[in-house]
Amino acid sequence: AKSAGRRTLRFFDSSMQLQADRRLLINNELRSALDNNELLLYYQPQQMVEGGELIGVEALLRWQSPGRGMISPAEFIPIAEETDLIVDIGYWVLLQACHQFVAWQEAGLHIPQLSVNVSAKQFHAPDFVERVYEALAITGMEPTCLNLEITESVVLGHAEDTIQKMAELKALGISFAIDDFGAGYSSLSYLKRLPADELKIDRSFIQDIPHDADNMAIVEAVLAMARHMGFSVTAEGVESRQQLAFLQAQGCNFYQGFLASKPLPEANLRHYVGRLAER
Ligand code: C2E
Ligand code: CA
Ligand code: CA
Ligand code: CA
Repeated sequence: AKSAGRRTLRFFDSSMQLQADRRLLINNELRSALDNNELLLYYQPQQMVEGGELIGVEALLRWQSPGRGMISPAEFIPIAEETDLIVDIGYWVLLQACHQFVAWQEAGLHIPQLSVNVSAKQFHAPDFVERVYEALAITGMEPTCLNLEITESVVLGHAEDTIQKMAELKALGISFAIDDFGAGYSSLSYLKRLPADELKIDRSFIQDIPHDADNMAIVEAVLAMARHMGFSVTAEGVESRQQLAFLQAQGCNFYQGFLASKPLPEANLRHYVGRLAER
């Protein structure tokens, strides 16, 4: 038993070391990835539950590394968040996404809204509001078409600062969604003070519908609460017709997920939007 314990310990040591090495490497390479144009954006459609009309797209970051291939944001965003790299990356994403949105509009493509993810560190940087102004000014992006997605972690421990910054940006016409709603640690008490427009129900509550009665009850409760509080609701990660039917029966506003489309490279998104418009 003792030697097994030692073996386990040694195994843990080396795998943790490997993980630490990979983090360090990724952090170093991520720095140059920005300058070397290895980052790109995919776009996932967001549609009406009732009728399927396109209501917007969410920009999702991709890293095409020449050495490592496609690296998932689920892996490199947390690493970028540990350093301050996420602030520069986040600004690049905002600029790039706004540029793209304006290009779509100029090409006559009808996409009502652009959603961009904002990390906690990026949001709380002292010049975040000015950076958003700057991105709008540089690109000519219409602020009322811009939706920023923040998670509950942005609010945690920074309620006053968060409300203040949201109010400044909302005054411009920008809207806000609370991302991954229900998956975080925060209480519901902050919700009524937060000037958000939309809740995005985390995929973990959607994925086992219609087999998980508890998750169905949670989705129902979130929808009822959102209705009372004046939030619209997007369900994330909708993969099946049954899930969509459930959301429709419960009066959920919008959905996003593989059932409609995976996140798409720009050219494919244009195609998708064109086909939707022809229906
Ligand atoms: P998120 O903001 O919750 O984005 C939704 C994620 O769910 C995306 O993963 C999307 O590809 C995936 N997804 C959408 N529909 C389905 C579905 O039907 N089934 C399944 N299994 N997955 C679905 P992705 O693109 O890998 O991004 C992961 C996370 O990385 C994002 O989660 C977000 O937290 C973060 N992220 C991505 N881009 C950015 C960015 O530009 N800035 C920041 N700060 N974070 C980003
Ligand atoms: Ca998001
Ligand atoms: Ca989400
Ligand atoms: Ca999520």
